[in-house]
Amino acid sequence: MDKRKAKTYQDKLTERRVALVGQVQAAEAYSRERDAEATQDPADMAANAYTKELLMSMSTNDRQLLDSIDAALARISEGEYGKCINCGEPILEKRLEAVPWARHCIRCQDMIERGQLAEDEE
Ligand SMILES: [Zn+2]
Repeated sequence: MDKRKAKTYQDKLTERRVALVGQVQAAEAYSRERDAEATQDPADMAANAYTKELLMSMSTNDRQLLDSIDAALARISEGEYGKCINCGEPILEKRLEAVPWARHCIRCQDMIERGQLAEDEE
């Protein structure tokens, strides 16, 4: 992949990263706020627990996405971006357009989803 194209993906990834970090921070701040409003009402407490659980599961996904984005940015600076980390084949640009942090080509991703290939966490 040429540098100019890689830069386009770098911008995309950075933009997404900024939005994501803001979201995670907002969710965490909201969760802390709810904690601070100590309430004795069981219904309120249940609602709080539910909201917290939701926020926690959301931020786990967000964190995973953040890790993937960071890994993609690292691959860009190493000049390794756009190659499947399993087979080394170029990842289709259509796929990168949709998922700029994609680590695998469609073939390997398909194998992961079928459980035929272990997801490499690097
Ligand atoms: Zn592959």
